Amino acid sequence: MTMDVIVVGGGPVGLMTAALLDAAGVRVEVYERNVEPSGESRGTTMHPRTLEVLTMLDIGDGRRVSDVLMAQGKRVRHAHFATLRDMLDYHDLDTPFPFVLMVPQWRTERALVEYLRARAVPVHYGAEVTDVEQSADEVRIRAGGTPRAARYLVGADGAHSMVRRAAGIDFPGGVPTVVGFVADVQLAEPVHSAQYFWNHVAGHASVVPLTETTTRVFGVEVTDTGLTADQVRRRQAEPLTPEDLSRALKAICGTDFGVHSPSWMSRSSNTSRHAACYRKGRILLAGDAAHVHLPAGGQGLNVGLQDATNLAWKLAAEVHGWAPERLITGEAGYDSERRPVAERLVASTLAQDALMHNFSRAGEALREMFCGFIERRGELAADLSGWLSGLAVGYRRPEGAHSLVGTRAPDLALTQGTLLRALRPDRFLLLDFADEAPLAGLGSTRVEVAAAQRPTGMPDPGWDTVCAALIRPDGHVAYATESGSGLADAIAAWTGFDHEPVPAREL
Ligand SMILES: Cc1cc2nc3c(=O)[nH]c(=O)nc-3n(C[C@H](O)[C@H](O)[C@H](O)COP(=O)(O)OP(=O)(O)OC[C@H]3O[C@@H](n4cnc5c(N)ncnc54)[C@H](O)[C@@H]3O)c2cc1C
Repeated sequence: MTMDVIVVGGGPVGLMTAALLDAAGVRVEVYERNVEPSGESRGTTMHPRTLEVLTMLDIGDGRRVSDVLMAQGKRVRHAHFATLRDMLDYHDLDTPFPFVLMVPQWRTERALVEYLRARAVPVHYGAEVTDVEQSADEVRIRAGGTPRAARYLVGADGAHSMVRRAAGIDFPGGVPTVVGFVADVQLAEPVHSAQYFWNHVAGHASVVPLTETTTRVFGVEVTDTGLTADQVRRRQAEPLTPEDLSRALKAICGTDFGVHSPSWMSRSSNTSRHAACYRKGRILLAGDAAHVHLPAGGQGLNVGLQDATNLAWKLAAEVHGWAPERLITGEAGYDSERRPVAERLVASTLAQDALMHNFSRAGEALREMFCGFIERRGELAADLSGWLSGLAVGYRRPEGAHSLVGTRAPDLALTQGTLLRALRPDRFLLLDFADEAPLAGLGSTRVEVAAAQRPTGMPDPGWDTVCAALIRPDGHVAYATESGSGLADAIAAWTGFDHEPVPAREL
């Protein structure tokens, strides 16, 4: 039996993609070359929007995947940009998760694997995919030596993606110049909150508590900046040792904090690349397979999980045969919506690269200027918080459309429950804010109508006056209206279902 979708790569993005596809009724399986789930803690910073989208995954016992991670992580009110001294405050953000959750990446992967296991979605470990080719009707692969086929394939196989190469998708970008150190360790002299150290002769280092016992230390020595690509390759190939780490910390911070018992050590680089397209025929790319950059501000994992969220419901609609062209290759397609986000991701990390790796007096002055902007909590700080948290990431709003269109819908109160817990990757939500609104007739298998309480005092005033809003399966606003006009047309355009228009006077 040919699968609907094969996902190559059982990292966080592949697992999330499979989980959402399965929740949308798609037959999916994952192939992962490692023989078991990873124990690496790489991405530890989980931003609010990621916790919001993980709330879509219903474990079935009253908990969501976000609840599982919340019980395992550490909440931190502030997020850093470029490890600057002054930090962004998430406290006032309009979300049930106004903080950063510090949680090792292996825990995120474990929560997703357990979710998939409970649903009997196959995750094949020790199954390296070696060949990928596609025809007009299907994609064929060889995994662990065995041939398999599916209607579609998602390449979530990381930075060195073989799927990307097999599909012939270019991966242009800049050459790396910096090598950083990163490790999860224990400290004899623990720190109780994140500390950032700058030493203009030696380098910079960050010391960030992860759990009661584990601390993430990362940074860059001045001698590891301004390298050629060859030097970066050679330096990255040298294993980081506890002695290297201790020496670097002493030089930068004046102490090594009594560092001992590392559970993970690695060297990072500032390689920055972005796939020329996210789709070739029946093959799609997501996560690090589509974009890599300096690991700064904790963004790769977060943007990758949101790629998966944008991709899964559209691919599910395509598999089920009802996706309008706009969702496949059109203006609301995965490539059209997510490539601009990764372009900003690359720009944001390049800007942090410039702030973090310039140890001259000019670099110091630039950092002080940015600290001032953040400390004043003005427009720039709000823009950075909106971007890093993921809450302000929106999609294209057609000319003349309501100001809410494209934005992420906040966790509005519905008559029963709240919006985030009502989202499902296989249908839209039609929110009815007008008491007497007869919108039930617009419901279908693709649109659930939900009575919503008219919100007041929202940061975006559009919500105060809207009488109905069509919310996409990924939680973004597809259509909003203050009079009720255009709703039936909007539903038809997004879901392919035709309805009788609703007269405005009935609303
Ligand atoms: C030091 C460091 C710190 C980071 N910190 C953060 C952070 O705080 N926050 C954040 O958001 N991001 C962070 N990141 C980035 C984050 O780790 C990545 O963006 C994230 O892992 C991407 O997930 P992915 O699933 O796309 O790719 P990966 O995690 O790379 O997963 C890809 C999977 O595909 C498998 N695979 C590859 N080829 C094949 C094949 N041919 N067949 C089968 N399987 C294959 C691999 O074994 C792997 O399991 C950090 C990264 C690093 C290196």
